[in-house]
Amino acid sequence: MIEVSDLHRWFGAVHAVRGAGFSIPAGQAVGLLGPNGAGKTTTLRMLTGILRPQRGSIRIADVDALTHAVQARRHFGYLPESAPSYPEMAVRSFLRYRAGVQGVAARRRKNRVQAVLAECQLTDVARRRIGQLSKGYRQRVALASALLHDPKVLILDEPTNGLDPTQIREARSLIGDLAQNRTVLVSSHILPEIERTCQRVIIIGAGRVLADGTPDELCRSADTGGCIAEIKGHLAAIEFAIKQALPGCSLETAPLEEGWWRCAIRPAPQSEPEATNPQELIGIALASAKCPIRLLRPETTGLEEVFVRVLDEAARNPGGEA
Ligand code: ATP
Repeated sequence: MIEVSDLHRWFGAVHAVRGAGFSIPAGQAVGLLGPNGAGKTTTLRMLTGILRPQRGSIRIADVDALTHAVQARRHFGYLPESAPSYPEMAVRSFLRYRAGVQGVAARRRKNRVQAVLAECQLTDVARRRIGQLSKGYRQRVALASALLHDPKVLILDEPTNGLDPTQIREARSLIGDLAQNRTVLVSSHILPEIERTCQRVIIIGAGRVLADGTPDELCRSADTGGCIAEIKGHLAAIEFAIKQALPGCSLETAPLEEGWWRCAIRPAPQSEPEATNPQELIGIALASAKCPIRLLRPETTGLEEVFVRVLDEAARNPGGEA
């Protein structure tokens, strides 16, 4: 549904987007996650025809968005980072006006306005002036406006920016509902935002796609094969047993109560995969050292850790290929 390849955009000397590329099939909800200044807005503005890339290609619903921008626009709705507001207009009048501007056929306008009012849960405030609404409701009006022409693709730039926690929760739930029957690309620098609304995450940093996959895939790919253990005994004996079992491993220890230690054990990155599970080796070594173990489990990597690691890696290798 969305195909982006080798996208580049410079602002003077700033290379804001450097070869970004991704492909989003119909019906998928995808989060574009990156820190401030990563190039999210620039990427979305190129997708929506507001900015022209200096290199690359964009196809939306099989339409070349660079050569057939008007045709491509029929297929997507766009909620920009700061949507213009018309404070003096009533919600329904504003949506009728926008339906005309967006080229919705006159005979369909009334129905489409009714439909987006219902879909964005705005029916009760349809007669209220936009300027009298809370920010959360004003954001819903902007979202309703993006849906008037019934697009199959929804592109949202930081949709919860500036909302309070309750409004954020409501906005997330609404986006989740809208994603049920649409392809959604939503940008954010807030990880839980993306984790809760999207099936797939594209991590972008310094204008490059740094990682792309479902949260599970990203977490698995970042898995160190390490484990966490809680062990009782003399620290020197514990360290000796673990180093014997897994030569070259890294070991972090922290004291707990009554002689127990919390140990984070990660096998050496270059070592050959062990024929025996590292946890078994640790268990055997600590049993021989007569050190009781009350917990031994694989170290799981959360999406937040993946995000931090991927960005750290990119910062260490700024010229690296995407
Ligand atoms: P944020 O989360 O803060 O909105 P972002 O990931 O959306 O950030 P962009 O707004 O795309 O990032 O900006 C990417 C880079 O391009 C930044 O270095 C920014 O300063 C620069 N940039 C963006 N727009 C312009 C512009 N119109 N003129 C000059 N530089 C720009």
